[in-house]
Order: sequence, then C-alpha cells, then structure tokens
Amino acid sequence: MKIEKNKVVTFHYTLSEPGKGELENSKDQDPVSYLHGHNGMLQGVEDALEGKAVDEKVNITLEPEQAYGPVRENAVQRVPLKHIAKSSKRAKLKPGMVVQVNTANGLQEVVVVKAGLKNVDVDTNHPFAGKTLTFDIEISEVRDATEEELSHGHSHGVGGHQH
Ligand code: ZN
Repeated sequence: MKIEKNKVVTFHYTLSEPGKGELENSKDQDPVSYLHGHNGMLQGVEDALEGKAVDEKVNITLEPEQAYGPVRENAVQRVPLKHIAKSSKRAKLKPGMVVQVNTANGLQEVVVVKAGLKNVDVDTNHPFAGKTLTFDIEISEVRDATEEELSHGHSHGVGGHQH
C-alpha cells in the first residue's frame, strides 16, 4: 500500500541539524502517526512521503521556511503559571526548558526564559524555529483511515490522537 491522501502513516524518525547533530528521535517512544493529506504534518515531510510504502526510508532536509519558520523578534510573553500544561509541570521550570502552554489554538510548545512564582516568561518561537532540519524517517505502517478518522481529520491510536 502506498502513501496517498486519506492513508494513516506511522513512522519512526531521527531529527537532526545538518552539521550540528541530533535534536531528537522517536526510538524509545511510540512512533508518530498522522492522516496523510490533512495538514497534520509539515507539508515538506508529507511531500517526501507521498507514494512511499512500509519499510521504506526517507531522508529529507527542510529549510526553516519549510519547517518551523524563522526566529521572530519580540516573541517573549508573560504567561500565568496556570496556563502551562499539566504534563509540563512535573519538573521545576528552568530557563531553556521546553513546555506546553494552553492557548486558544490548543497546546503550543514554548521555551522557558524565566520562571516566577505566578508567571512564566516564555519564548513563543517554536523550539526549532530558524533551524534547518533533516528528517531520517522509517515508515512502519501504512493503512486506510477509518471513517471516524476521516471525519475528525486526524489519526487515532498509537502515535495519533488518543480520545
Ligand atoms: Zn479524533
């Protein structure tokens, strides 16, 4: 089965910066899954995966403009501590830590600049903003989406939405 619109794609990945080393990988975690053709993944990654099949490996490098955009100036905001996602509160907040904030548009990843008692100053640039990113992807599953997944516009189950 080849990857095309309305297939659910599951893959493992290693993300690195060319010449600078690895940023993260999914080796010790669940793989990532998404519904192809529904803007659930970076467009450049979806384009590279189009037409590929299980067990194929894909290597793609995206410039910042194709990935998480350039670094924006004046992107530091003061956020009430209560808006930091619960999953991010297990550890003591420290500068440089990536945490999730509840926003009107859902969870957003930000970087802690300064943590106070009631508020946190966060840099709202995506942690990978301004970076050229190389994705090494190994496709582990390609399947038809269920009716429910198509109506929701995202994949369910391991690596997808759990609800
Ligand atoms: Zn859903």
